[in-house]
Amino acid sequence: MLAYTYLERGKFALLDKPKPTLLHPRDAIVRVTLGSICTSDLHIKHGSVPRAVPGVIVGHEMVGIVEETGTGVTTVKPGDRVTVNVETFCGECFFCRNGWVNNCTDPNGGWALGCRIDGGQAEYVRVPYADQGLNKIPDHVTDLQALLVGDVLATGYWAADISEIKPEDTVLIIGAGPAGICTLQCVRLKHPRRILVCDADPSRLDFVRKHYPEVISVPPEQVGEAVRAYSAHGGADVVIEVAGSPETFRMAWECARPNAVVTVVALYDGPQVLPLPEMYGKNLTFKTGGVDGCKCAEILDLIAAGQIDTTPLITHTYPLEEIEAAYDLFEHRRDGVMKVAIKV
Ligand SMILES: [Zn+2]
Ligand SMILES: [Zn+2]
Repeated sequence: MLAYTYLERGKFALLDKPKPTLLHPRDAIVRVTLGSICTSDLHIKHGSVPRAVPGVIVGHEMVGIVEETGTGVTTVKPGDRVTVNVETFCGECFFCRNGWVNNCTDPNGGWALGCRIDGGQAEYVRVPYADQGLNKIPDHVTDLQALLVGDVLATGYWAADISEIKPEDTVLIIGAGPAGICTLQCVRLKHPRRILVCDADPSRLDFVRKHYPEVISVPPEQVGEAVRAYSAHGGADVVIEVAGSPETFRMAWECARPNAVVTVVALYDGPQVLPLPEMYGKNLTFKTGGVDGCKCAEILDLIAAGQIDTTPLITHTYPLEEIEAAYDLFEHRRDGVMKVAIKV
């Protein structure tokens, strides 16, 4: 089968590899129908994910059809159309039982797919703990509508969920890329009083204005003024940092009012500095992560009910054979790209 593979730092290649087989009774084999490229794939390519194993098939955002299940799999069967969860989790350990599935103590727990074990930018993928890692797609939800459920949308849902958003709050989301927009969609479901989105890319701010006219979109140079103007207590009540640069990390805590919640979802390419003397007395609560992607069934229900729609984010589609070109477009952000679908 065709499989896009991490060879070494800076190098991915489309190779011919053997089709995966069941290795454990709780495994399933999924025939991938549609995949996507995530910024985390680029982090692997650039060598900033030390856990990534050279030789691994990349890709952790995909939907497909169950081809084969192990004897221990009970919730899906061959022929089911499913979303694949970015997280591998056993469902039984202390962390899983608390919903902190990113910290599952299984050796492959957390983000393993397309990083430490073979992923889904390929024709087939083996999914461990298939009862946890797969969710059936409702009949009237398309593959395209479900494509982002297992990773970037799960991340946005989780970010909104842990940020303690209340109806009177002003929420600032930093970053209007795919993860930022998914976060925005999920924050809207919490109905805060006001939502602001900040991004340095004018085309991404245009995207926000076009699709979410009630949201205030601002470039970085205006964000401080905007949060003060639109919030009653000198800063945002909740800040969700999705962008992942040193500037945006600083912006996140600077734009927060005292006693705010600052949720850091972004994956940084390097360490960030938390200047505690400057922040003393601000009494912020930081939440950081690693998505706990265990609410995919809820997300699929919201898509089926028309409450979440990420299809406008998928701006381009390429066949798996041309995945190299798709990466090139995505990495260099050409042609207004947000997300690329890979048709298998
Ligand atoms: Zn990802
Ligand atoms: Zn576990």
